[in-house]
Amino acid sequence: RTASSNNFIRNIVVEDLAAGRVTEIVTRFPPEPNGYLHIGHAKSICLNFELADEFKGRTNLRFDDTNPVKEDVEYVESIKQDVKWLGFDWDGLFFASDYFGEMYERALLLIRKGLAYVDDQSAEQIRESRGTLSEPGTNSPYRDRSVEENLELFGRMKNGEFGNGEKVLRAKIDMASPNINMRDPVIYRIVHAHHHNTGDAWVIYPMYAFAHPIEDAIEGVTHSICTLEFEDQRPFYDWVVEQCEMEAKPRQYEFNRLNITNTVMSKRKLKALVDANIVDGWDDPRMPTISGLRRKGYTPEAIRAFCREIGVAKSYGVVDERMLEHFIREDLKLKAPRTMAVLRPLKVVITNYPEGEVEWLEAENNSENEAMGSRRIPFSRELYIEQDDFMETPPPKYFRLFPGNEVRLKHAYFIKCEEVVKNEAGDVVELRCTYDPETKSGSGFTGRKVKGTIHWVEASQAVAAEFRQFEPLINDNDENADEEASFLDRINPNSLETLQGFVEPNMKEAAAQDKFQFFRHGYFNVDSKLSAPARPVFNRIVSLKSSFEV
Ligand code: ATP
Ligand code: MG
Ligand code: MG
Repeated sequence: RTASSNNFIRNIVVEDLAAGRVTEIVTRFPPEPNGYLHIGHAKSICLNFELADEFKGRTNLRFDDTNPVKEDVEYVESIKQDVKWLGFDWDGLFFASDYFGEMYERALLLIRKGLAYVDDQSAEQIRESRGTLSEPGTNSPYRDRSVEENLELFGRMKNGEFGNGEKVLRAKIDMASPNINMRDPVIYRIVHAHHHNTGDAWVIYPMYAFAHPIEDAIEGVTHSICTLEFEDQRPFYDWVVEQCEMEAKPRQYEFNRLNITNTVMSKRKLKALVDANIVDGWDDPRMPTISGLRRKGYTPEAIRAFCREIGVAKSYGVVDERMLEHFIREDLKLKAPRTMAVLRPLKVVITNYPEGEVEWLEAENNSENEAMGSRRIPFSRELYIEQDDFMETPPPKYFRLFPGNEVRLKHAYFIKCEEVVKNEAGDVVELRCTYDPETKSGSGFTGRKVKGTIHWVEASQAVAAEFRQFEPLINDNDENADEEASFLDRINPNSLETLQGFVEPNMKEAAAQDKFQFFRHGYFNVDSKLSAPARPVFNRIVSLKSSFEV
């Protein structure tokens, strides 16, 4: 394993170890199981696991399942799979819900210390009485309940004697605090709902801000790393650790969340796309989920290299999607076999090639990686080329096929276009060409030069294939890349293009998730759901070139 990337949190870890504040680094990745993980989570996963790894510490995978309504075992399983696929092994696997008993005890402790009270106000009233940045909040009429009364009411909340929202437990801190999070935050609420892990054992559930520091402390987490929007929660985090008399003293550090152009990065929004059938599930290749990226053809290596490059800081920013693409190209450049695929076929007949004859030509598998060897591809009288590689009336500097012009067929011969066949509607349906046997690839022919090289697939043995090409699912708007209300209005109607073409015969053996570079088209992955041996389906991962530089 490589060292974690240099960043301010790593510097803190180095200092803490040097100063003896901690003897072992313990981090955690704490997803809420309310959806599939996305590339933003990958940033957090890499940060937590690589940091602990570098300093021989531990990282837990902890499901933050304190909200029974939105959580599901399907999500738990997918999250485990995605973390493993990215290449990480957790030390402990925990559920926040395993600690409900202990959290309840700590809440009782707060009540006994006069630091928590049961409030009968509605959520609406509580929100209003919390004040604003410029105005202090006002005390609840229930704030001065006695310890005995609070213990009794909280016990009755736990026993299910009240309905949802009838009562809450609040920390008793300071309704005039300049930090609104410290104005008596709610720490327990009533939810009569079945929980995926604890079933019907509980009807009161701890709030995230109360539960999280307790979870961290129970597990001995030393560095609790979260995204910047929790910065204002840090005083309450420390308050809980202190007042609940937790033995371990975890500390919270915040970093900038990952945003990427032309996408949304929130489980809630991604779920909305799934629920509205705008995509084919969480693993649709257009989704920024880990499972979507995997199905599209991304590798864990590419995602981890990307996360390393974007770094960890405290400043807000949006990363160009092309940066992610850069890393998959880099990863596949030397790994993926380079073969030929015709996405929009046009039939070519070589009129001077003997009928019924097939010859086998040698084709290298990767011109930049000799170790990948070569394969044999058939050549005969009938071929497919790309419709784009022919123009009847070409513009200047068009070096591909046009009537009377000669081009090189990759790995094969020069061919010359002699005749154009059209249907009744006037569309070009076939080209009749001649080939020159002396120009065979690898024969050392130098007699004359041609300016264009095009790809092709021999017709009689070609494998019919489907190609799926993608554009961004969501278009950015100029002012706000992640505007709450409007992302469903910014769906790109052209985000999926499906083409029917041909690939080389050996593609019959291609298995799900195999990756190829199709000459001149880009990198493609065999779709894990739609592909069948007789009729492979390929997802385009990325085109070959981009002007983007890292
Ligand atoms: P979402 O809004 O997508 O549900 P979340 O923060 O609510 O995101 P959690 O399941 O709570 O999702 O996240 C688990 C961890 O992943 C948290 O520590 C969170 O900070 C981190 N995380 C989530 N989104 C991003 C992101 N875009 N960039 C970096 N880290 C992220
Ligand atoms: Mg969330
Ligand atoms: Mg969250």
